[in-house]
Amino acid sequence: MAEIEREGGCACGALRYRIAGEPIFTNNCHCRQCQRQTGSTSVVNAFFESDRFTLLSGELASHTVPTGSGGPHEMRRCAVCGTAVLSHFPPNGRNLSALRVGTLDDPDAFPPDALIFVSEKMPWVALSEGIPAFERDYRLRDLLPPERIERLKALARG
Ligand SMILES: [Zn+2]
Ligand SMILES: [Zn+2]
Repeated sequence: MAEIEREGGCACGALRYRIAGEPIFTNNCHCRQCQRQTGSTSVVNAFFESDRFTLLSGELASHTVPTGSGGPHEMRRCAVCGTAVLSHFPPNGRNLSALRVGTLDDPDAFPPDALIFVSEKMPWVALSEGIPAFERDYRLRDLLPPERIERLKALARG
């Protein structure tokens, strides 16, 4: 069975992409760095193998900032309007892509598996009932079904 494909893009319309299948995992991160990078309360990132992402039009510009744990966090934005579309985090680098769910044409498609860094959330933000919430991070193997853990392992093997 062919996997579902979804499309999304940036705010100016120059950059369009397609993403194949379902994410390995999706986080709604409330950390201070995500607040600063987005100017908002939090970010929703859906993590995929990078070969599931196809650029249909436009160009990705690369911007690197430090992560909380010290490695480089590479953000990739529409080269024209600067909308952030993808992030790559250590230790996976460009093999694993965090897609910013708000750039999908249907941003409702990927509800988060976990709410993370809720210890840093803006105090008036209410958390969704029924989605596991963590003070900081969590262990993926505590939350994800084995087949999704297997996708991560396959990536690590290269
Ligand atoms: Zn964060
Ligand atoms: Zn754009």
